[in-house]
Amino acid sequence: MIIVSVTGPSMKEALAQVAGSARYTDMFEFRLDMIERPNIAHLLSSTKKPTIATCRPDWEDGGFSGRERERIEMLEIASVFGAHYIDIELNANARIVHEFIRRQNVTKVIISRHLPYGKPLNVSKLYSKLHASGADIVKLAFLATDTSEIRHAFDFLALAKLHRRKAIAVAMGEYGEPSRVLYKKFGGWATYAASEDGKGAAQGQVCASQLKELYRANSHRNSTKVFGVIGNPLAQSKGIYIHNSLFARARKNSVYCRFAVANLRKFMKHIAPLLNGFSVTIPFKEKVLPYLDYVDSTTKAIGAVNTVIRRDGKLVGSNKDASAALDAVERAVNVRGRKMLVVGAGGTARAIAYEAKKRGAHVLITNRTQRKAKKLAKKFGLGHVKLADVGRSTFDILVNATSVGMVPRVDESPVPVEILDDKIVFDVVYDPPMTKLLRDAKSRGARIIQGTEMYLNQAAMQFETYSHTKPKIEVMRRILAHHMEGMSRKHQAPSF
Ligand code: NAP
Repeated sequence: MIIVSVTGPSMKEALAQVAGSARYTDMFEFRLDMIERPNIAHLLSSTKKPTIATCRPDWEDGGFSGRERERIEMLEIASVFGAHYIDIELNANARIVHEFIRRQNVTKVIISRHLPYGKPLNVSKLYSKLHASGADIVKLAFLATDTSEIRHAFDFLALAKLHRRKAIAVAMGEYGEPSRVLYKKFGGWATYAASEDGKGAAQGQVCASQLKELYRANSHRNSTKVFGVIGNPLAQSKGIYIHNSLFARARKNSVYCRFAVANLRKFMKHIAPLLNGFSVTIPFKEKVLPYLDYVDSTTKAIGAVNTVIRRDGKLVGSNKDASAALDAVERAVNVRGRKMLVVGAGGTARAIAYEAKKRGAHVLITNRTQRKAKKLAKKFGLGHVKLADVGRSTFDILVNATSVGMVPRVDESPVPVEILDDKIVFDVVYDPPMTKLLRDAKSRGARIIQGTEMYLNQAAMQFETYSHTKPKIEVMRRILAHHMEGMSRKHQAPSF
């Protein structure tokens, strides 16, 4: 079940949140501590869906700072007006908790514990206390300081499953996002979502429409395969839109989540064993290598991985960036025998330079930090030139393999416009799809190739690796364009 937290703060906004989320939610939680002067009867009668009344006190990270007696009265009123559940804290007065539990044939009771400050957790001790409370449903919410900590939520749900007790466990904050998406796979009774206006009750809440339609969170089973992307930051990542849409179209029992990783070692120890595969992005493409059981010779030579799959229990890494980029270029022109100037000396530049040379191009490297360009050129036997001198070198194809021009610095280009006349110009940057470099190139009669082409190629290869199904690039292009249009209308990154 998806539960939308209704937080107001005004009554008008609260009622609008109910109306706006009704299509996507199975239940509403009214946060009486966050709604100003809540009209409890009005709120509860605004929906036909089951309801939870919560009035979280400030001593448990809530917004209610009045007297305990007033708080309990509000919950009692909610019960009288037909709230199906009330949520009360494990640390509330024991007599009051007991009284609510005694009467739970009228309104069921969720007993909860909230730990907002990323304190160390003793899951089994906490679970035992909540279990002993006799509540109908037990709930744990804690702030995750790293993705590895979502394991606590899954461990909590496993204990509840053993006792056949309904349970909710959420890791709050951006690191906790997968715990909200994967609740059902790990046996949770429900998950909490933000209303469609994005006003969540806790950090990291995903809005209900996304949980229901993008992640299909309510349809997951124990057998659902979990994939995702690891990186940091991940707010700009488009993978969740592409892969989840493709999984749905191909009717795969699989989901793709964002794993914002702070500590790679802990992620590989606690979370990677739960996954069937994952994409790797900045800053882990090189760092993930020592954790893998096998990589092919191309990946080894490039020294960077962007795709990991679990095969017979072993983690196998590969680099799809190299062929994705060159396939995009070769859709426009065959690179064999051509001169290619690659700007950049990071992981992407390395992958492109390696593959371009393999396909017969004469590659010249340039980079802001000249030392790195020299090092890369030496490693693969390529030419190099100072960034200030690129105007004096001859080339047919220019590749921007740096992050210059990417949002938010969209008015920057890595090279002067004068060197672009009649060239073929490929930019790896795909956000925005039309960069300053590509606009400059077009104005000088150059043929351009957008970074989205590389992005789609590598996503298609990854999807095939994850699902053994070849996706149609045209379908993926539409999914990506639809998402990018939505984002540019909102002028903001997808929120966690
Ligand atoms: P990386 O290893 O960190 O390398 C970054 C490169 O950008 C370095 O050469 C760096 O130069 C250069 N750079 C950064 N800021 C600069 C600036 N202000 N002026 C000049 N040069 C600058 O990163 P990466 O993994 O190679 O990724 C590079 C870009 O490729 C990113 O924007 C990423 O999104 C994009 N990418 C796109 C796709 C796709 O599918 N289209 C796939 C993978 C990556 P220094 O060495 O001087 O620092």
